[in-house]
Amino acid sequence: MTGEKSAVIIGAGIGGITTSIYLAKKGYNVAVFEKNSAPGGRCGQLIRDGHRFDLGATMLMMPDIYREIFESLGIPLFEDGEIKPLANLYNIYFDNNDVFTFSPDRDKMKLQHEKIEPGSFVKSQKYITDGYEIFQIGINKLIGRNFDNVFQFANFKNLGMLIKLKTYISNWNYVKKFFQNTHLRMAYTFQNIYVGQSPFNSPALFSMVPAAELTEGSFFPKGGMYSIVEKLLSEARSSGVQFHFNKPAEKIRVNGKKAESIIFEDGSEVKADIIVANADLPYVYRRLLPDRGKSRRLDRKKYSCSAICFHWGLDKIYPQLGHHSVILSDGFREGLDRIFKDKSVGDHPSFYIHAPARTDPSAAPAGHDTLSFIVGAGHVDKNMKQDWEYLKKKTRSAVIQRLKQLGLEDIEKHIKFEVCYTPENWESACNISRGSVFGSLAHNLLQMGYFRPHNQHNRYKNLYFVGGSTHPGNGIPNVLLSAKLTAERILKN
Ligand SMILES: Cc1cc2nc3c(=O)[nH]c(=O)nc-3n(C[C@H](O)[C@H](O)[C@H](O)COP(=O)(O)OP(=O)(O)OC[C@H]3O[C@@H](n4cnc5c(N)ncnc54)[C@H](O)[C@@H]3O)c2cc1C
Repeated sequence: MTGEKSAVIIGAGIGGITTSIYLAKKGYNVAVFEKNSAPGGRCGQLIRDGHRFDLGATMLMMPDIYREIFESLGIPLFEDGEIKPLANLYNIYFDNNDVFTFSPDRDKMKLQHEKIEPGSFVKSQKYITDGYEIFQIGINKLIGRNFDNVFQFANFKNLGMLIKLKTYISNWNYVKKFFQNTHLRMAYTFQNIYVGQSPFNSPALFSMVPAAELTEGSFFPKGGMYSIVEKLLSEARSSGVQFHFNKPAEKIRVNGKKAESIIFEDGSEVKADIIVANADLPYVYRRLLPDRGKSRRLDRKKYSCSAICFHWGLDKIYPQLGHHSVILSDGFREGLDRIFKDKSVGDHPSFYIHAPARTDPSAAPAGHDTLSFIVGAGHVDKNMKQDWEYLKKKTRSAVIQRLKQLGLEDIEKHIKFEVCYTPENWESACNISRGSVFGSLAHNLLQMGYFRPHNQHNRYKNLYFVGGSTHPGNGIPNVLLSAKLTAERILKN
């Protein structure tokens, strides 16, 4: 490589591409090496027979974080009007056939709340205001900053912050203070699954997710979430970043306290001043680095759950389904226990449906439909092995059965083709430890902030990490912040 300072990045996920732009704009000679044939990682895309699927992320939420990062990179994002706010966040379907439309429209919410539980609308407003305050404190004090030492995180002053962030109570016990009705409690906590956790077992800090959604809204870009990857990619290329696809890294060669080069599966080697790993952090320690001790310690940490995803191209449109639908089963708690305790899938699972053609007709050929389903599942666990092929079939039947109850009786015979990702497929598709697609490492208090694996290696000081498995965590807004924080650390050093 030529140029004064060189940086190589392993992985062209959102984290890797975003970091590459920050570094290139500061004069680094940057090259990104991706194992797959296309960029995007867990925000990847599949196009088949005119049907376009977002393979991972489907919702653009917390738009202010996107705005901040894209502005800092000089990329116009919302200006061209191609990213539109959705009138409704999602329709939530319960087993008793009640439908609750989550919407930033307060009048709409009030009517529905009062029907389900009189007096609950006022309480929901308190829940949302408090949750949004948690979100803002979180951004300023926990999520949006680097920690240089443990005292910056765990100090007397921050004790008050951790209390304000509701880290002392589970999300479920917290929501119980607001609503008597179980369906309302489910509606305001299921979002915990976005970070791969159960509301019964994670802090009420995550009440910030529905609060942020209801306050700032949810958006959808023309072309799907992959268009975010395309915008980043285009800026990276114009900033001089070189991309190499089908180029899996096999080892990071170290010497003393320095990471010297990357050795690829094809035997080639690239040296650089700075190495950034966007690939899943526990995987990098386990497979690319020589330090077995640290890898074993990472292996003992808690991991987020996984998902079984079905993508269907259909020769019929089901207009009953809005852009985003969430099916919450009355066996909500048992379903979560099956995921988190048994590392399996519930018999009557809750699940999510993405129908992108409702907002962007180009996602499907005329008269046809493009639907994706995400069903929470246990992660791959060597001590609790699952027959994922069997679970895939069983889950597919359960999904179809539930869709029939919703009135989509003939849906099965209109599926033209299906693409499915099980936890094992996720593990191999993006090298995500245990197929824990929502950040790999779980987001419990002892694995967040300073306690989440750091974005700089503590021995090889020129080796950095970026992405959902390092600070601050999973979800595109967090990964964008991660890129900013990692780039800041590199540039500061
Ligand atoms: C089903 C699902 C739904 C989601 N929904 C949403 C949503 O609605 N909204 C939202 O904001 N977020 C969502 N997310 C989360 C979001 O997609 C991720 O947080 C984000 O895309 C992760 O980006 P990343 O850069 O950290 O990692 P990745 O996308 O995993 O990128 C890492 C890259 O490194 C590559 N790599 C790995 N090993 C090597 C190697 N040895 N050599 C070279 N390259 C390598 C991988 O192939 C990959 O491309 C969802 C995720 C999933 C799975």
